[in-house]
Amino acid sequence: MLPRDFTEEQIMFRDAYRQFLAQEIVPHMEDWREAGIVDRSAFRKAGEAGFLMIWPDEKYGGIGDNDFRFEQIITEETAYARVADWYNTLHSRLVGPYLTRFGNEEQCDRFLSKCVSGECVLAIAMTEPDAGSDLAGMRTSAVEADDHWVINGQKTYISNGINADLVIVAAKTDPDNNPHHMTLFLVERGMEGFERGRNLKKMGLKAQDTAELFFTDLKVPKQNVLGEVGHGFYYLMEGLAEERLIGAAGYLSAAQLSYDLAAEYVKERKAFGKPVAAFQNTQFKLAELRTELDLAQTYVDQCVAAFNGGALTAVDAAKAKLVTSELQCKAADIGVQLHGGAGYMDEYPISRQFTDARISPIYAGTSEVMKIIISRDCLGDDYAPFNTRNF
Ligand SMILES: Cc1cc2nc3c(=O)[nH]c(=O)nc-3n(C[C@H](O)[C@H](O)[C@H](O)COP(=O)(O)OP(=O)(O)OC[C@H]3O[C@@H](n4cnc5c(N)ncnc54)[C@H](O)[C@@H]3O)c2cc1C
Repeated sequence: MLPRDFTEEQIMFRDAYRQFLAQEIVPHMEDWREAGIVDRSAFRKAGEAGFLMIWPDEKYGGIGDNDFRFEQIITEETAYARVADWYNTLHSRLVGPYLTRFGNEEQCDRFLSKCVSGECVLAIAMTEPDAGSDLAGMRTSAVEADDHWVINGQKTYISNGINADLVIVAAKTDPDNNPHHMTLFLVERGMEGFERGRNLKKMGLKAQDTAELFFTDLKVPKQNVLGEVGHGFYYLMEGLAEERLIGAAGYLSAAQLSYDLAAEYVKERKAFGKPVAAFQNTQFKLAELRTELDLAQTYVDQCVAAFNGGALTAVDAAKAKLVTSELQCKAADIGVQLHGGAGYMDEYPISRQFTDARISPIYAGTSEVMKIIISRDCLGDDYAPFNTRNF
């Protein structure tokens, strides 16, 4: 692999975070997988150790350094330690930045310190039973009334849905039903009319609580409107580019782990009197994978540098998400195949690599949606089959 660009401080940060995971998170993961939810103490411990939401200003307890490489390190190490179902990155880097980017000072003062310490766990709720890729098709609505808004509707597949104390909820707010007129609301634990449904059982990422949320005549004070009324859709589109980049860093690290697990196994396992590593098929499969991993890493690192320089586009992020999420699945699939029957057994880590990987080309925008974004950039809007500005 080509040399990667991290500072001395970031290399030390990586070591310290790896140790934190080994001591505080990895030993509990099996229990949390059984329970279908990570214990909230994980967020508190990470907050205390300075590994949860690191980027906010020092006055909120962060380090005030917005260098994305810190987050890249956290995501890579989390995936490589096989604890990606502790969805700390969703809290820290997918949802948290909405508060500073679109929120006002009063909202930042109210919530940010608690988010940094892990006392307040975050989630974001866009998807509904009838609206996922097509966000503009959502039905949850909010109606203005005196000093508050009244929200009715439901969301599904919401990560951290059970643990969350503060949920950014997207709702339609145009009485004339303009599909893009959405607003983001800060919905807090305990607000009357906010109920959680099932913690959904999943194929992989078993410790991540992925839940249904219900809103029935939920009164949200106006001070909990995030940003401008009616701008929510565009805020989500802006947030998704960053979400896709942080996702890409994790998917690639998970793919790297699948490669390492496979490379290790084939040296040990013997068939026809030889290590499986001695078969040319094995060598070519791993050589191809190694090359794709290295190429993807260079692209993702360049995207991170572009993000740091304020130059990352939604299209760049879509390409990174598309390639890395598909590569994560491919690496896990090759890994299982090279393990033979052992690869299908729970006790071999490659098995879980396979089931955990399957969601990556689906959430945060499916591979098909990424291709729509990229092809719009290649060919222009004139050839779009429908209004692709919905992504
Ligand atoms: C584990 C998990 C965690 C999640 N966490 C969150 C969360 O925290 N917050 C949140 O809001 N959501 C979350 N989601 C939802 C996730 O983002 C959606 O599932 C995803 O965007 C896809 O939407 P959908 O499931 O409705 O699929 P659909 O939109 O129904 O898509 C079904 C299929 O049709 C394809 N398709 C759709 N439109 C087109 C088109 N125009 N052209 C070609 N193909 C198309 C899709 O690519 C897909 O293959 C999560 C989902 C899961 C499974």
